[in-house]
Amino acid sequence: MLQDQEAHAAEMERTFIAIKPDGVQRGLISEIVNRFERKGYKLVAIKLIVPSKGFAEKHYHDLKERPFFNGLCDFLSSGPVLAMVWEGEGVIKYGRKLIGATDPQKSEPGTIRGDLGVVVGRNIIHGSDGPETAKDEIALWFEPKELVSYTSNAEKWVYG
Ligand code: ADP
Repeated sequence: MLQDQEAHAAEMERTFIAIKPDGVQRGLISEIVNRFERKGYKLVAIKLIVPSKGFAEKHYHDLKERPFFNGLCDFLSSGPVLAMVWEGEGVIKYGRKLIGATDPQKSEPGTIRGDLGVVVGRNIIHGSDGPETAKDEIALWFEPKELVSYTSNAEKWVYG
């Protein structure tokens, strides 16, 4: 049992998930949080903030050469964003599956973007695309003291 728990602790990872201004304005917060929660992932940080344009540019720095970069940063800074950190085994990769493809037109039904979005410029949600990005994005959006480490009662039922 202890070995199982240790193995489980070693597999834990964290990802940065943000509900963009369109998702917040459309009242989709509870719908989206529900999907991560009921999957079995654990919420370890959450806050509602309006990022500045400069902050949005930092977040999307990898895309600065893309033609949509300026519009994307204007959009991200146009209203409240719900920034979160979720923890669990495989949460980075599987979180992206829950989210769906970048373009909602190409996202499968059952995914967040597939079920709730229509166009790529208003695709509701962001999720880190790999372990390095997750680390950088968590550090950009949150102070270490905002990340809450705790044992949830559900864990022994989620992981066995
Ligand atoms: P993802 O968010 O799925 O990781 P990318 O990192 O490629 O996708 O793009 C970041 C964000 O930029 C997308 O979520 C979307 O909001 C926006 N975006 C991507 N491609 C386009 C596009 N062709 N036109 C407008 N916005 C785009």
